[in-house]
Amino acid sequence: MAAPWEDVLRDPLAVREAAAVAVDAALLEGVLMRTEAEPNASDVVNFAPFTLLPSAVPRRLFQQAYAVQQDFNLLVDAISQNRQFLERTLASTIKVDDFTARLFRIHMQVLEEGLAQSVFLGINRSDYMFDCGPEGTAALKQVEINTIAASFGGLTSRTVPVHQRVLKVLGKSQEASQLLPNNPSEGLALGIAKAWQLYGSPSAVVMFLVEEVQRNIFDQRCVENELWNRNIRVIRRRFRDVFEKGSLGEGRRLYMDGQEVAVVYYREGYVPKNYDQQNWEARLLLERSRAVKCPDIATQLAGTKKVQQELSRPGTLESLLPGRAEAVARIRATFAGLYSLDMGAEGDKIAAAAIADPGRFVLKPQREGGGNNLYDEELKQVLEKIRDSPERTSYILMDKIKPQPALNYLLRAHSPLQVSECISELGIFGVYVRQGKEMVLNTAAGHLLRTKAIEHADGGVAAGVAVLDTPYLV
Ligand code: ADP
Ligand code: MG
Repeated sequence: MAAPWEDVLRDPLAVREAAAVAVDAALLEGVLMRTEAEPNASDVVNFAPFTLLPSAVPRRLFQQAYAVQQDFNLLVDAISQNRQFLERTLASTIKVDDFTARLFRIHMQVLEEGLAQSVFLGINRSDYMFDCGPEGTAALKQVEINTIAASFGGLTSRTVPVHQRVLKVLGKSQEASQLLPNNPSEGLALGIAKAWQLYGSPSAVVMFLVEEVQRNIFDQRCVENELWNRNIRVIRRRFRDVFEKGSLGEGRRLYMDGQEVAVVYYREGYVPKNYDQQNWEARLLLERSRAVKCPDIATQLAGTKKVQQELSRPGTLESLLPGRAEAVARIRATFAGLYSLDMGAEGDKIAAAAIADPGRFVLKPQREGGGNNLYDEELKQVLEKIRDSPERTSYILMDKIKPQPALNYLLRAHSPLQVSECISELGIFGVYVRQGKEMVLNTAAGHLLRTKAIEHADGGVAAGVAVLDTPYLV
């Protein structure tokens, strides 16, 4: 699946000229991030890292990823409503993983009290890599589905004109015209707007719940802008603000500084470091409220690695999506091998297999945000240490996906221009809205291609490993 610019990669002068154009185009188009030195100020900003050239993506797999997105939306939504399934699936995990346990306790507490929320909004991103099989044909394999704070739906739309410009400069106008338009933030905002409308208080606001450190603010502003353009007010607050100034009124309506909040859009709250005791209390307050949470805590739990692993068991998808055999088949076709490390014979066997051949697997804890998974020698060492202890149940094992690398240049501020062997990961944004039992919106809202050098096993754009890219369909 080579892209038609292998010639360019061997022409250092052309690359240098194109890279200078690319960086200026990125700044002009708003492919922006705040700096590490000043993550909470916009006085000095930089371009978000991106590839010099678009990466080749097999058209067939790209279409397959879009075609299964509505199925994944239905699946995540079904899991979030299935108390027994979440309870059973997470039982072993919450005994050893404190973070998942705390989320789970809030989930239970909210259910015991009875849900005040009746409109549900899901924004997720299903991530895939292109596994290179023995005969050299690539297959679409899901890495994971992100059900909370799935990012880069804003910035990704802006790499298209940048890459178009680069290709034109390199004399490839024909190829430039074939890059697909892509604007996930519009679809994300449509979902938020729909949920806001169904909530039914025209004066209520949408609250973006944001992190203390806000380097990726421009990505979020893209979604905000779409909402302001629809005359929907947006406020940005942190957990700390909610703890200090949030309250519940009649019917558990949520108020911040006296303003009613219709929708809470989390770009925060997905890793343990986001929480201290006050933040946990703030999270509980939000979850108890009538406001539409994107996601509600059940949907966040539906995105755990443990749930992903249980979905791959024969019969599980069928029981979660009864009467939807075609959707089940489309979903299952994207699964890589996933294995439980629960105590017992099944877990013992796979742990031994992974210790014997660590290069075949990835060991994953219940964490998000990149940089947590274990590979190769490290996988072996950790698994050897925990193989006989219940601690192993906080992890799952997954078959390692092995994509075919391709050459590209990764453009980063203050970094030398050098060619790298790279692999790419495709994400599809899913958006859905449910009112009571009725699904009123279910769409695929766009895509994100991220590319990294092969020497990095793990990590996303925010973690400084992967960079933004644009697919060139082949
Ligand atoms: P996180 O929630 O931390 O983002 P992921 O499951 O997405 O965790 O894994 C992080 C990164 O690790 C992915 O972006 C991918 O590059 C790599 N990775 C994850 N699972 C696999 C796998 N099965 N095979 C190969 N690489 C993987
Ligand atoms: Mg990920």
